[in-house]
Amino acid sequence: QDVVNKIAAGEIIVAPVHALKELIENAVDAGSTSLEIVVKDGGLKLLQITDNGRGINKDDLPILCERFTTSKLKTFEDLSSIGTYGFRGEALASISHIAHLTVTTKTADSSCAWRAHYADGRLTPAKPGQSTEPKPTAGRGGTQITVEDLFYNMASRRKAFRSPSEEYAKILEIVGRYAVHCTGVAFSCKKHGESAVGISTPSNASTVDSIRQIHGTTVANELIDFQISDGKWAFKASGWTSNANYHIKKTTLLLFINHRSVESSAIKKAIEQTYSAYLPKGGHPFIYLSLDIDPSRVDVNVHPTKREVNFLNEEEIIESICAEISTKLSQVDT
Ligand code: ADP
Ligand code: MG
Repeated sequence: QDVVNKIAAGEIIVAPVHALKELIENAVDAGSTSLEIVVKDGGLKLLQITDNGRGINKDDLPILCERFTTSKLKTFEDLSSIGTYGFRGEALASISHIAHLTVTTKTADSSCAWRAHYADGRLTPAKPGQSTEPKPTAGRGGTQITVEDLFYNMASRRKAFRSPSEEYAKILEIVGRYAVHCTGVAFSCKKHGESAVGISTPSNASTVDSIRQIHGTTVANELIDFQISDGKWAFKASGWTSNANYHIKKTTLLLFINHRSVESSAIKKAIEQTYSAYLPKGGHPFIYLSLDIDPSRVDVNVHPTKREVNFLNEEEIIESICAEISTKLSQVDT
């Protein structure tokens, strides 16, 4: 059974960035306003994320890493949206099967923090022979998740990572996306033992501030905002997109659907198509797009590793977004 769990976990978490994305989403879901991320060896040696969210009850710690342990499904009806992003209540369980996982957490009504170690979905002692019970410890309100030696039990997977800096670049990229999307949350990300930060955005940064900081000053001077609320196809979209004065070598699409960072080649293609009328040959746009759709209309059957999302009335929704962008672009003086 553990072998099966390990293989399943390795399919969900192919690279350190996939584990980190889940941890960021958990921290944001917990109402955090500050996320501090520390990375060693591209996340293979260490991934640590410290938040100031509501914390986890001590009583919930023993089952935290069992599969399908989630505090986010309140009713049976919620099951219709359970698979929206491939899996629910499986992230911590998966990580515990392929890494050494330590959770330190404090809720507002607990007088101290509690620390627990996990392996293969269960509590495990900090050192052989010790008790598996969570231990009281000093700590601030919130949760710190420490993932060490990712893929320690998957030698071939570990060997497939040649360059920690490549993995770190992917990590900065996903942190940057969430830093743009989650206004009101301060993000920092750096390498372990180094003072220089890869990303640091304050909690009071506006979306444009964060885009400017992460994607370069010039972008923000040449961005236009858009907002769509569409009753017919039941979606809302908002974001910032580059105008015709600004173009880059490769399309940058920061896409969030229902507040999860996802990929959609259909959206990307349609946006590039829209811009082709406005940009010189070889020029590409920058766009941050946040899309809210009824969760039951988002395809549940996409494999988690694909990170691609499909949704109902995709064509109509994309068309309507592109029409709005096109209108905005045509209003800008070039
Ligand atoms: P899911 O996010 O789908 O519920 P996870 O395996 O990612 O599943 O997390 C399991 C549960 O652990 C969450 O539902 C939540 O209750 C709790 N949890 C995980 N991370 C945090 C955190 N940073 N702060 C508070 N609670 C957390
Ligand atoms: Mg989660």
